[in-house]
Amino acid sequence: MIDIVSLSKNFGPRTLWSDVTTTVSKGEMLALVGPSGAGKSTLLNCIGLLDKPNSGEIRYAGKDITRFGRRDTRHFRREVLGYLFQNYALMENATITENLEIATKPKRSARGKANVVIAEALERVGLAGRGDEKIHYLSGGEQQRVALARLIVKEPALVLADEPTGALDHANATAVIDVLREMSDAGCAVIIATHDDRVRDRCDTVFAVNENSLVA
Ligand code: ADP
Repeated sequence: MIDIVSLSKNFGPRTLWSDVTTTVSKGEMLALVGPSGAGKSTLLNCIGLLDKPNSGEIRYAGKDITRFGRRDTRHFRREVLGYLFQNYALMENATITENLEIATKPKRSARGKANVVIAEALERVGLAGRGDEKIHYLSGGEQQRVALARLIVKEPALVLADEPTGALDHANATAVIDVLREMSDAGCAVIIATHDDRVRDRCDTVFAVNENSLVA
């Protein structure tokens, strides 16, 4: 699904990581681990086309996505990618439903199925019937559940998650991992930057960013 080949990243004279080579397959969940500052987020950002590596390739469907122009980048973000951040990245002043509507595939909206898909996703994350509530009244755990529901609605082929359980209590963290695991079992490739051993233990593969090696 994603082949990372000899990828390197510098900030000025400082090499963050170099010669990173790893593969993430369909249905695989990969944990990126390493101390704070090792460059986990930067690696995720390179895969998500929010940052550029200095050398190497990231291959998806036979193409090096690091060379994408604006149009291909937009298409990749819209059609392939799902992002889950520690700070949830939701529209604060909008309702839960409004936050999910923007992730709904246009084809589905046209067929009038969006409401059903949104209701099912909210049910899956334990927020059934709460679609009209505004984001800024929700707890952090609830906001992360909304972000998860948005991913479920979007059905991305690749999910990038940056410390998705970092700010959550045990129950909410488990809910997040369970949903990511289900998405990966359904064929999605999931890459998670994490310090959390519970997350790491649920992944298929562990990649240590600072040591640049596959741990398991
Ligand atoms: P991690 O996610 O493993 O904690 P990050 O990828 O967030 O690591 O950051 C790795 C290092 O790169 C940090 O020391 C950070 O200060 C540095 N860094 C991140 N972005 C930039 C930037 N745009 N310019 C210079 N240094 C940066």
